[in-house]
Amino acid sequence: MIDTLDLRMGDVIRMARKHPCGGDQWEVTRIGADIGLRCTTCDRRVLMERVTLRKRAKEYVSRGAPLDPEIERALFGDPPDAGEGREGLR
Ligand SMILES: [Zn+2]
Repeated sequence: MIDTLDLRMGDVIRMARKHPCGGDQWEVTRIGADIGLRCTTCDRRVLMERVTLRKRAKEYVSRGAPLDPEIERALFGDPPDAGEGREGLR
């Protein structure tokens, strides 16, 4: 299980259940009320509710580039664990 509030564009996530195509890795293509995902194996795009994604996601395979910290704060607010691993990026 991963913290879906910490999603970034370009993140690649491994899902608990395999896609019918056999792939289990999805790239984050849109972040909003729903999360846009693209199957990295067959290119199928889906929208998934955050709560569903939170249940199905197993782990990050790779992380997208962080946004500018100012923009990230505006979008997500101050994360409670700010400072852990993020300070070096500023
Ligand atoms: Zn697929």
